[in-house]
Amino acid sequence: MAVLAARGPHPDSRVGGGALLDVDGIINRLKSNMQSSVRRRQAEPSFDCKNCGKKYTLKNNLLRHTRLECGKEPQFPCPFCPHRSKRNDRLMQHVSSQHKEQLYAGRVEMPILQ
Ligand SMILES: [Zn+2]
Ligand SMILES: [Zn+2]
Repeated sequence: MAVLAARGPHPDSRVGGGALLDVDGIINRLKSNMQSSVRRRQAEPSFDCKNCGKKYTLKNNLLRHTRLECGKEPQFPCPFCPHRSKRNDRLMQHVSSQHKEQLYAGRVEMPILQ
């Protein structure tokens, strides 16, 4: 009478996923992005671009600007409209503010996340 009790996994707890796009994940990221950008608003800009005069609070942001943005064409097209953005996170801000309904509808094809 050996008792080898079945202590298997609970398959019910692992249901979900497998969708084309993790819309919930995107929305969560957008929300947390907005929250974090609201929180830190006390720092003064102290790095300015020699080319265009844009000001940044962090040196890394200025470096990213000179490398990716300054004098460059926008590289990230909006999937919903002709708008183009110079940065991935800017495009996400644009989508979250301008196309919230489409995004929440879950019919998104954004190839550039992550
Ligand atoms: Zn610049
Ligand atoms: Zn757009």
